[in-house]
Amino acid sequence: MIESSLKDIAAALRDKKVSAVELATESFSRIEAGNARINAFVTVDRDGALAAAKAADERLATGTAGPLTGIPLAHKDVFCTEGVLTTCGSKMLSNFVSPYDAHVVSLLKEAGAVMVGKTNMDEFAMGSSNENSHFGPTRNPWNTDKVPGGSSGGSAAAVAARMVPIATGTDTGGSIRQPASLCGITGIKPTYGRVSRYGMIAYASSLDQGGAFGYSAEDCALLLSAIAGHDPRDSTSLEQGAEDFGRDLAKPLAGLRVGLPKEFFAEGMSDDVRAAVDAAIAEYRKLGATTVEVSLPNARLAIPAYYVIAPAEASSNLSRFDGVRYGHRAADYGDLNDMYCKSRAEGFGSEVKRRILVGTYVLSHGYYDAYYIKAQKLRRLIANDFAAAFQQCDVIAGPVSPTVAFGIGEKSDDPVQMYLSDIYTIAVNLAGLPGLSHPAGFGAGGLPVGLQLIGNYFSEARLLNAAHQYQQHTDWHTRAPAGI
Ligand code: GLN
Repeated sequence: MIESSLKDIAAALRDKKVSAVELATESFSRIEAGNARINAFVTVDRDGALAAAKAADERLATGTAGPLTGIPLAHKDVFCTEGVLTTCGSKMLSNFVSPYDAHVVSLLKEAGAVMVGKTNMDEFAMGSSNENSHFGPTRNPWNTDKVPGGSSGGSAAAVAARMVPIATGTDTGGSIRQPASLCGITGIKPTYGRVSRYGMIAYASSLDQGGAFGYSAEDCALLLSAIAGHDPRDSTSLEQGAEDFGRDLAKPLAGLRVGLPKEFFAEGMSDDVRAAVDAAIAEYRKLGATTVEVSLPNARLAIPAYYVIAPAEASSNLSRFDGVRYGHRAADYGDLNDMYCKSRAEGFGSEVKRRILVGTYVLSHGYYDAYYIKAQKLRRLIANDFAAAFQQCDVIAGPVSPTVAFGIGEKSDDPVQMYLSDIYTIAVNLAGLPGLSHPAGFGAGGLPVGLQLIGNYFSEARLLNAAHQYQQHTDWHTRAPAGI
């Protein structure tokens, strides 16, 4: 049943063809069968899930169920869960049990969704391959020698392997869209500020944004509708009420203006990705969309600007992990300073340390203007490019990742190569715009290729509408890896 659409699962629950407890049990057995190979889950919360499933069955019986009541789901391990381990993929938090729920987690509890566990991720969401996890890499369900993408690779792999139909993720520079693309599922990162960051462990606060993974745009719309909305506990939360992001799914695409950024199509994309992206755009034309060339002249500066701003914010955010209040503390130390140093030296992995060093450097007296202020100016130029492009089009389409999933170990010794895998996604975060990735075919080695749709602020319903119409006429999103 878990491989079905949310609509079908909800109907089966309503018609008593399946119970929430049976669905949770099905999810556990799929995790049991696949997790040793895929390593998508860091924690499975059987007892909590069964209790939630029983409560969901009661709600279903009394007719007070919502669209997500009884649906099994997984949370990226960046979201705090009361009473359940929250590791953020780090040794630093490998023993951390949060005393409270993230806003996203409590909204989904209220909706009656059943959290089966927490998914693997790059440490503190820093990475594009999931290889930076303290708990070992997650593997791509389409080919376990390949990465699933990152940093939300555990959530993407769990959905791709049909262990859960939906999962949460976060996207600071591409961490929902890139793993969705590499794992052949749908993922959406909404406009910055749509989803509360309360209880979502901070990496780069001005870029971090929670979002949704599912098989289809329709399923992502249901999940996003449940987690978006104003939260006074997050000062950057937008003062906008809850929305039904699925309200426009059925709208025909006739007249939709799709912008194709010439810089995205100039070079860099591998041939197999390009063929799938071109075919997907042709399909959109068949559905009545028109295409127009647009330009994002400063998009090439997105990676350098991001790798100043994100580490700067990370160096500040991660200063709270000092071995005093929570998390890892070194066993042997001299004075207080030595305790800080040893706890952080032992608790953080090398990519996290690299970013703390870079961030501290770019914020230091004498370099602040040269690097940090400069990067903020580039950020503005990048946002202005998008604003100009959206004068000419309703959505922007392009690749998500320059290649299909790469091999485990292939880029792990070369941070710059790794950083370049986010070349098409990072500008979207710098501008705070919504972006979606949907399956668009297969490339080299039979590995999935995604298409990225980028919208103007608050246009999530339109992005989901476009992707849904595409999915009504194609079946890429229904394909699952063999042997799962
Ligand atoms: N890959 C990018 C990074 O390493 C983006 C990660 C993310 O979106 N969390 O920072």
